[in-house]
Amino acid sequence: MLYICATPIGNLNDITLRGLEILKTADIILCEDTRNSARLLHHHGIDSKKLVALHDHNENEVSTRVIEWLEQGLTLVQISDAGTPGISDPGARLCNMAFEHGFMPRPLPGACAYISLLSVSGLVDIPSLFFGFLPSKSTQRCKQMETWRDVDYAVVIYESPHRICECIDDIISTLGADRVLVVGRELTKQFETIVKMTAQEYREFLHADSNQQRGEFVINILPLDSSANDSEQLTAEQLKIVNLLASELPTKKAVNLTAKICGGNKDLLYNYLLAQKDNKQ
Ligand code: SAM
Repeated sequence: MLYICATPIGNLNDITLRGLEILKTADIILCEDTRNSARLLHHHGIDSKKLVALHDHNENEVSTRVIEWLEQGLTLVQISDAGTPGISDPGARLCNMAFEHGFMPRPLPGACAYISLLSVSGLVDIPSLFFGFLPSKSTQRCKQMETWRDVDYAVVIYESPHRICECIDDIISTLGADRVLVVGRELTKQFETIVKMTAQEYREFLHADSNQQRGEFVINILPLDSSANDSEQLTAEQLKIVNLLASELPTKKAVNLTAKICGGNKDLLYNYLLAQKDNKQ
């Protein structure tokens, strides 16, 4: 039996009971990085398992061995470093080879960075496309972004910390400064930040605090129509002021003062501060 198992994208407890149960009983665990996975497995009391590396550079070769193990009746579980295998991660070639040899790969669903961001993006009846990583060269990146200028669906991309500023600049130059983004940084981790604002506001937000340029990013680029109706979201200025005031005043006072100083929906401001507090605990 071949299982494809999602692992946490940050918080080590974001793994399902069924996933853990099957990992505990597996004969072999195929890991993108065995040292990294050993830490997660150890955290859940799974030690002394046979771990075999399966990554981008050896996936074809190891998949051939996997077929032999499956023919011997062994139970195998494939995991990647974080989130769902096959989603901008190794696993797709393994599944193809399993199908070709008459084995059905079974998913053990769980954490995935782009699904996590979509779940809080507030897209009402708006479809979405998951694109993953854009090309590393700016010209190619912009060419790809141009194709999203007039689409009526949201596009979700992955981005790394060393390219986040360039990527936002490219979004501004191809899709416009007013394009609304939902950005998830360090989801489920200590410094989790989720904001919904225009590309220009997010650019300012990034440059106002270099810590905001650190970590892992998922960006949801909303289609034009939703941007036009999106007056209820918090601006970079409102976030900056409410953060400042909340560091000195009780939450309710900080929210009321922010709304007086620079506007903004009080419920959104209040919920934002509550979420920040939860993250710090
Ligand atoms: N398989 C993973 C999944 O299911 O989401 C994605 C793996 S891909 C190699 C890694 C990229 O996913 C990161 O560069 C980042 O864009 C995104 N990502 C992973 N974990 C994240 C997190 N905790 N917060 C934000 N983005 C994350």
